[in-house]
Amino acid sequence: MSRTIVEGGAVVAVDDAGTEFDEGHVVIDDDRVVAVGPGSAPPQDGPVRRIDATGCLVTPGLINTHHHLYQWATRGYAVDAPLFGWLTELYPVWARLDAESTHAAASAGLARLAATGCTTTADHHYLFPRGGGDVFGAVVSAADRVGVRLHAVRGSMDRGRSQGGLPPDSVVEDRDEALAATQEAVAEFHDPAPGARVRVAIGPCSPFTVSTELMREAADLARRLGVRLHTHLAETVDEEQQCLREFGRTPVEHAAELGWLGPDVWLAHGVHLSDAAIARLGATGTGVAHCPSSNGRLGAGMARLRPLLDAEVPVGLGVDGVASNESGGMVEELRQSLLLARARYGPEALAVRDALRLATRGGARCLGRDDELGALRPGALADVAVWRLDGLDHAGITDPVAALVLGPPPTVAALLCGGRTVVTDGAVAPELTDELRRASAHVRQEGTR
Ligand SMILES: [Zn+2]
Repeated sequence: MSRTIVEGGAVVAVDDAGTEFDEGHVVIDDDRVVAVGPGSAPPQDGPVRRIDATGCLVTPGLINTHHHLYQWATRGYAVDAPLFGWLTELYPVWARLDAESTHAAASAGLARLAATGCTTTADHHYLFPRGGGDVFGAVVSAADRVGVRLHAVRGSMDRGRSQGGLPPDSVVEDRDEALAATQEAVAEFHDPAPGARVRVAIGPCSPFTVSTELMREAADLARRLGVRLHTHLAETVDEEQQCLREFGRTPVEHAAELGWLGPDVWLAHGVHLSDAAIARLGATGTGVAHCPSSNGRLGAGMARLRPLLDAEVPVGLGVDGVASNESGGMVEELRQSLLLARARYGPEALAVRDALRLATRGGARCLGRDDELGALRPGALADVAVWRLDGLDHAGITDPVAALVLGPPPTVAALLCGGRTVVTDGAVAPELTDELRRASAHVRQEGTR
């Protein structure tokens, strides 16, 4: 057994009781938290690794509920376009991704998440260019390399241009082929055990790139295999209008019809939702990955965060792919969600502690891991972020949670995932920068590889 003690800083546990200490400690044995308390840890027998959190805030590691890591190789395209125009420009670029460039992109994206306090991320991967190799495995191995926990969503698209969809035919799969590959991905990578570092979910991309048959069969498959379901829904007005035109139903009505509501489902965006749709999500326990920066970047709209929370919908935060959020940092989404909620609903719409809760407990609920992620409490996995707050950026802000949420993104002094160190003094695997430059050039066809 190896014991680690984090002490000397403020501790905000985000547990049910809202435990906070101005100065506290967290004791970790192997991959689990065993104690959280005030002041210094009691004297220990045997060897102990100590992490000095003096001048820092200690919180649970943040959880990102929606991402497309492959997009790290394609930032800065269609910078002023709305969703459909943006997708139309990017699909042919994405069609050039292969396993090598996807691995470099995912490694860079995961490093950026880690450097901004994220210990668990979902990744929605729906792009399988013909001849591109094992792109899904490339994302999983990147998470292992960087050291963060991954909920890898095996996505799919079967509606190419010739079927009235948006993507070129070269990046879509045949329905049966997609379902078989999805089942294989679950068999190969999904770990259902407590403490899992990799889980797999099933996630056809969206109703405008996927046939209704594939949506329906994917839901059946997920339930047969006991894994979760994820897709994009109700992101833009265009999508809603297309859904009404094509199916005579709103996106949430359509999802219900296809078996896509329930406590094992979380949906990306959920921007354009009526009161009835929100009530339905709440009643069925369907989660929402709220992606405020991406929604702003694409001008998709402002999610109805306050009504979603009032209806007890599980809501987590999502960075979304960096082709629509070039920053890709996790802690920034706390601030962004708070500003957007208050801009829309007034000063009481979201407290600073609510923003932190969305990015921890809310995310854990979306991913079905509220029992072991998202809080610092005995028995929880030792996913811990230590935020440096003693420099110029945060000087004079007495409430450390306000400093974290409202101030500049702090340096992560230490990040532990399952007790293992991922980040020290803001630094994660520096060799990733050159790899990312090469991968981006490759998909731009600059001929450097
Ligand atoms: Zn997305």
